[in-house]
Amino acid sequence: QGELDESESDVILRLDGVTKNFGSVTAVDDVSFSVRKGEFFSIVGPSGCGKTTTLRMIAGFEQPSDGRILLSSEDVSRVPPYDRDLGMVFQGYALFPHKTVGENVGFGLKMQGEDPEERQEHVADILDLVDLAGTQDRYPKELSGGQQQRVALARALVIEPSVLLLDEPLSNLDRKLREEMRFELKRIQEELGITTIYVTHDQEEAMSMSDRVLVLNGGESEQVAPPYDIYHRPRNQFVAEFIGDVNTFPGTVEAVTEDDYHVDLETEATGTVEVKRTVARNEFEVGDDVLLNVRPEDFEIVETGHGEDRFTGQVITSTFLGKRTNLLVDVGDQQLLVEASGRIEQDGSKAEDAITISWKRNQCILTDVDSDH
Ligand code: ATP
Repeated sequence: QGELDESESDVILRLDGVTKNFGSVTAVDDVSFSVRKGEFFSIVGPSGCGKTTTLRMIAGFEQPSDGRILLSSEDVSRVPPYDRDLGMVFQGYALFPHKTVGENVGFGLKMQGEDPEERQEHVADILDLVDLAGTQDRYPKELSGGQQQRVALARALVIEPSVLLLDEPLSNLDRKLREEMRFELKRIQEELGITTIYVTHDQEEAMSMSDRVLVLNGGESEQVAPPYDIYHRPRNQFVAEFIGDVNTFPGTVEAVTEDDYHVDLETEATGTVEVKRTVARNEFEVGDDVLLNVRPEDFEIVETGHGEDRFTGQVITSTFLGKRTNLLVDVGDQQLLVEASGRIEQDGSKAEDAITISWKRNQCILTDVDSDH
């Protein structure tokens, strides 16, 4: 799921069993994926998982130790960067400080031998697209961080590459600007319909912008899927925990019926729960050790009462965030992160209060205990 059929004709980039070793370190381990034409494809994962190395191999700055990289069906594994028809914006984006914005943006066109008049027109068009019309004669230092970032983007886009590679391009910006730039970047990408590969350690950034996401962990591909599936149908425990928060309950599959898995949870607060088989992404058998995960927003605060999907506990902390309130609830042998939406009376959720929470039965994630590698 989320993986593309190799024969799909609109695939523009394909990595086929790509591995990269640096001495004894395997930075990227047998990674395969395909990217469609026009797709916004993100690579996420914790620090050191191989994101940048993967992108650098696509760009041609590193050669794979094993496997192949195909760009428009051509094996480019040994093709130098300047012959790959790619645009790149890296962290820090290194504009030429002594060249004007116009010269910075027009640099690639000059290298391609475009005549000055045409070049000027081209540069003006692309600056217009990134919302920097009329800044040709300024110098980078006279621009804000966000503007410099857009100059770097314009410089990469002006040569009309078939694939745009972005490595943490927003990481030098403050939070508010980052969020603005997310929309801006997405708008430009959609307007041009340019295939984009985006590397970030920021899950939210990846989720909000991408058509599909690759989650890397220790050099290995954990899942390739659209953001919705990554969040709601993670393939394993690593993905479930890496993208968003989860409350995890260890248990054992006690019975498997046509529709449900009956999972016996170890927690004192509840007994056996039923999980719809259609909800669980993976297949399980009786006796399997599993982890049942509930997202904080899939709990609700209920009046009182007992039941297998209910917990009664004490509120330890309550953080009011406007449209939602985050609660940390002690349910005896475990503390749960609960996100309550809507209006919670301030004094209805103060510390030490006893509350009962239930979770929406079929909004949980079941994974294999051993899937976290
Ligand atoms: P971050 O988010 O911290 O930038 P990353 O996911 O981009 O991390 P990479 O930079 O691709 O990770 O590094 C993956 C692994 O390969 C790391 O263990 C790193 O130390 C190692 N590595 C990367 N480049 C080299 C190199 N040139 N020589 C030796 N080891 C390297």
